[in-house]
Amino acid sequence: MTHIPSATVSRLVTYLRILTELNERGVERAASDDLARDAHVSAFQVRKDLAYFGRFGTRGAGYVVVHLLEELQRILGLTRTWNAAIVGMGRLGGALADYPNMHAYGFSLRAAFDNDPAKVGTCIGGLTVHPMHVLTSVARREALDIALLTVPGDAAQAATEALAAAGVRGILNFAPIVLDVPDGMHVESADFLAGLTRVSYYLHASLTDPDGAGVAS
Ligand code: NAD
Repeated sequence: MTHIPSATVSRLVTYLRILTELNERGVERAASDDLARDAHVSAFQVRKDLAYFGRFGTRGAGYVVVHLLEELQRILGLTRTWNAAIVGMGRLGGALADYPNMHAYGFSLRAAFDNDPAKVGTCIGGLTVHPMHVLTSVARREALDIALLTVPGDAAQAATEALAAAGVRGILNFAPIVLDVPDGMHVESADFLAGLTRVSYYLHASLTDPDGAGVAS
């Protein structure tokens, strides 16, 4: 299997959002220049990213929006539903459970877990909170694929191991630690402090070198 750079995968998600919006507006065709402008990358970059997966456009005529949208959904695995659970039903877990748009992207929120006896059995964001000791049985019953991990940093590694043992293969990790995951499991980090630090870097670079190339994202 060709190695696809992770930055390419991130840009595919951006192209998907742009194409979804164009499609909703009834736009039928788009050039790589159009996608590039909206995604803040070069047209060369758009063509290079898409070329990993095949040939989608026609020289001079651009891409058929609905066709490229469907191809990106297929490439990104969004033509099926992924069953997800939240582990750690505190402030962030509760807010994610209330987020209305997950289903539109093909993610079905099926379960919630916490180790606090005061939360177990309660209903948060429409989900009954289960204790951690039933993780494996609930994961099997609900065919869980993905966990949104919202426990404190010092609990995240143990929770990851419990999720791996329960057969969950993907984690979106909100805890500010780097997780060790077994082969066959994929983890993505959603660390807002890391994002803020990147913003800091680019602001700092633009102040210290206003004309420099360091500010291009
Ligand atoms: P919180 O304390 O409100 O919630 C944490 C929840 O995890 C609690 O309900 C607690 O009972 C539960 N928990 C603790 N240990 C557990 C375990 N071993 N198994 C199952 N559940 C367990 O915390 P919060 O503010 O919701 O933050 C949650 C995590 O997200 C933290 O790691 C925090 O640093 C991180 N965070 C990330 C972002 C982000 O943007 N990525 C933003 C804020 C917080």
